[in-house]
Amino acid sequence: MIKPQRVGILGSTGSIGRQTLEVVDAFPHRFEVVAIAAHSNTDIVAGQVAKYHPKWVAMTARPAADALQSMDLGATILSGASALQQIVTEADVDIWVVAVVGTASLQATMAIVQKKIPIALACKEVLVSAGRLIMDAARENAVAIIPIDSEHAALKQCLAGIQEDPAQVSRLILTASGGPFRTRPADTFATITPADALRHPKWTMGAKISIDSSTLMNKGLEVIEAHYLFNIPFDQISVIIHPQSIIHSMVEFSDGTILSQLGPPDMRYPIQYALTYPQKWGNPWPKTDLPSISGLEFFEPELDKFPMLQLAYDCGKQGGTAPAVMNAANEAAVGLFLENRISYPDIFKIVSHTVTSFSHFEPSSLDQIVALDTDVKHQILTPASR
Ligand code: MG
Repeated sequence: MIKPQRVGILGSTGSIGRQTLEVVDAFPHRFEVVAIAAHSNTDIVAGQVAKYHPKWVAMTARPAADALQSMDLGATILSGASALQQIVTEADVDIWVVAVVGTASLQATMAIVQKKIPIALACKEVLVSAGRLIMDAARENAVAIIPIDSEHAALKQCLAGIQEDPAQVSRLILTASGGPFRTRPADTFATITPADALRHPKWTMGAKISIDSSTLMNKGLEVIEAHYLFNIPFDQISVIIHPQSIIHSMVEFSDGTILSQLGPPDMRYPIQYALTYPQKWGNPWPKTDLPSISGLEFFEPELDKFPMLQLAYDCGKQGGTAPAVMNAANEAAVGLFLENRISYPDIFKIVSHTVTSFSHFEPSSLDQIVALDTDVKHQILTPASR
C-alpha cells in the first residue's frame, strides 16, 4: 500500500482550503491531513479536526485558539500571530497548501521553502509582493512551487516537458472571464455596489478576489504571478478576455503553435493537479461536455474601462517594491469599497495614487516588504491621510 501524502493547509476555512479538503475526500487513502491553520472560525475548524484528525492546528486569533483548546479535540493547538510560522516549523508535512490572505503568508511561505517542502500556492499575493525573494529561495532550496490559480495551473500543464527552455515560449496567454462588468457601460461604474461586484459570472470565490476579478486587478496580479513563476518577461505575457472560462490559459510557442488547457471552471481541478503533480488521477468531478459548449469567444481587454490591468503591468515592469505597494494599496482600497466607504472608481484612484506616492526599491528581505505593506495600508486607512 502507498503511504498517504501528508498535507498541511494554511487557510483551511477559506474557499480554497475547503475545496482542498474536498479533493482529499476524493482520495481518502492517498492523502492525510496532518496540519491545518485558520484565523478565527472555530466552528469550521472544530468540524475539520473531528473529521480529519490533524495533529496540528493553528489559529491566529487567540480567543479562537482558546475556544478550540477547551474542546479537547486531541490536536496540538498553536495560537497568535506567530502560529503560522510555528505550525510550518513543527509539523511533518509532505506538501503545504498556502491559501491564507495577507502578509502572514509571506513569512510562512518562506519558512516552508527553507524547510524544502513543496508548496501548492493559492495565494498569488505572495508572488506579487515578494516574487523575486521567494522564487530565488525556491530555486536555491530546489523547492517546487506549484500554482493553484487556475490560469497558472493551466500554463504549467501546457509547459510540461518544455519549461526547461523558455526560449521556446513566445507568449503566455492568460484568459480572463471579464468579470460581471464586461458589458456594462463605463459611465455607470460610479453606481456599482459591493453586491453587484461580488456577483461573479463563472467562479464562486472569496470577497476580495471577486472584487479584483471585477476590476481586472485579479488578472493584473496573475500577470505578475506568471512572470515570477515561469520567469517570462512582461512583454511576453498577454491577457485575453474569454467569457466562457473553459480555456484556463494558453502558451504560444516560438513555432506559432498554441497549447491550451480546457476544463470546467472548478477549482478542485487545479487544486488536485497541485497535490498530485505531475500525475493525473481519476476523480469524480463533473467533466467537460464538449458538445454543450456552443462557442468560445475571445476579446482584447478594454484597458480604458479597466485601468487596473494596465497599472499592474506598469508596476510589474517597474519591479522592485512597486508590485508590493500596488498589492497592499489594492487590498486596503477593496476593503474600503466592501465597507461602502468609497465608490467603485475610487479603488483605482487610490491604488494608482498610492503607487506614485511611494518610492520603489529592490527589497532584500521579507521584513522590508511586510513593513512597506503596513505603511501603505496605514496611509490609505487613516482618514487624515486621505
Ligand atoms: Mg485565477
